Amino acid sequence: ESMTSPVAFDNRYARLPERFFVRMNPTPVASPRLRALNAGLCRELGIDPDALPEQEWAQALAGNTLLPGAEPIAMAYAGHQFGHFVPQLGDGRALLLGEVVDPTGARRDIQLKGSGPTPFSRMGDGRAALGPVLREYLLSEAMHAMGIPTTRALAMVTTGEAVYREEPLPGAVLTRVARSHIRVGTFQYFAARGDHAAVRSLADHVIERHYPEAQGASSPYLALLESAAERQAELVARWMLVGFIHGVMNTDNMAVSGETIDYGPCAFMDTYHPGTVFSSIDQRGRYAFANQPEIAQWNLARLAETLLPLIDDDASRAIDRATQILEAFPARISTHWLAGMRSKLGLQTEEDSDLELVRELLDVMRKQEADFTLTFRHLSDLAAGAEVHTRVRSLFNHAQPFDVWLPCWQARVAREPDGAAERGARMRRANPAYIPRNHRVEQAIVAAVTEADFGPFEHLLGLVTQPFDEHPGEEAFMLPARPEERVHQTFC
Ligand code: AMP
Ligand code: MG
Ligand code: MG
Repeated sequence: ESMTSPVAFDNRYARLPERFFVRMNPTPVASPRLRALNAGLCRELGIDPDALPEQEWAQALAGNTLLPGAEPIAMAYAGHQFGHFVPQLGDGRALLLGEVVDPTGARRDIQLKGSGPTPFSRMGDGRAALGPVLREYLLSEAMHAMGIPTTRALAMVTTGEAVYREEPLPGAVLTRVARSHIRVGTFQYFAARGDHAAVRSLADHVIERHYPEAQGASSPYLALLESAAERQAELVARWMLVGFIHGVMNTDNMAVSGETIDYGPCAFMDTYHPGTVFSSIDQRGRYAFANQPEIAQWNLARLAETLLPLIDDDASRAIDRATQILEAFPARISTHWLAGMRSKLGLQTEEDSDLELVRELLDVMRKQEADFTLTFRHLSDLAAGAEVHTRVRSLFNHAQPFDVWLPCWQARVAREPDGAAERGARMRRANPAYIPRNHRVEQAIVAAVTEADFGPFEHLLGLVTQPFDEHPGEEAFMLPARPEERVHQTFC
């Protein structure tokens, strides 16, 4: 290969044993068009976004051509879907092109999603519809902008082909970037086959790549579990602090790196309610907003099971040690969550009654059906002195219970060392003004799907990737849906 590649691939996963994946090329599409290229992320990865003309990027990121150095593979994995174990899932519509080491030394996967069928496709077509690709692009970039660990969106290409999802829809391919695509389900795939050598190779790879500090521990595999639990606790706490509902927390959709992965029927809630579910496939609310911490713990238990033989030769001792980590998990989440809630409410010091203060606010928000995001944002404005309290009050059906809570918070912040302006500014950096609200995402999808108009997508992307800034004239994008705009379900 004489041509220099715009992407400096350096592939490790493809060096693991061949039974970890299937080598194969993407299936070309009719007429690829580049609809988005994330220039900022390109540069973060050491890729020059102008290295190729637009149409060549489109060809490469649709899978019609292969960038030099790419070694496409479909990764094998298993998983518990809604609590039921499926021994073989795998990349049914995605291919890992390879990895790059960014200028900071961090290794990242570059994956095409929607690139055609693989041996793991089962009944699926291997493709992705434009709507869900656009949703993933918006939500993952919004999460990143809020500082929440997540896979990223590098590019979006439309294929010029239809995919059939009850009706014909335009097809698209997303280029996704991740610390890795290794899931709890990847460990389960080998453990379920009794392939302990593979579990060990995978664990060693994960330790080297994500948890090098575990290498020096007396039991590196126990340390791996503990580090993964810590990252997951922080992640789920962060979701709970912004009202994010993942929607499909199957074990194959939980990355061991601790990044948010697999944006399917996910959503941010408008009105605060712990039982909120948007996913069309979650009939029983297994993955409802407030269930997420417990589900994360359940998923970690499935990871722990695969590691037991590596943790200790004595099975009951291995179970004891893993159980300790799992039992400590809820407290880990609570610690991160309470710290985050203190930031959201402008508290830098800690008082024992802070938890109660937060609980009381959430209780009023739930009973009076307040908008989750705006409550905290308007409180930030109030703290900054830029706002009379009528705007935050108006978020509650009946303001009286909020009027009872407000002076308790004001008395609490009065005991803080900093001044109002400083506190308000800090709160505004903890409480986004712009999130990708469902109805706005839906409007962007409808414009793209029905009129090939990507203007609304670009506009919304611009706002949610600067979520803490004031955007004059864009107040309407801060608001929840009007009744007729409301989206009740999301689809993958
Ligand atoms: P998900 O619900 O996105 O986590 O996907 C679960 C499994 O279904 C994974 O193995 C996916 O690769 C596979 N899958 C999802 N959609 C498709 C599709 N359109 N074609 C082939 N496989 C798919
Ligand atoms: Mg998945
Ligand atoms: Mg998915």
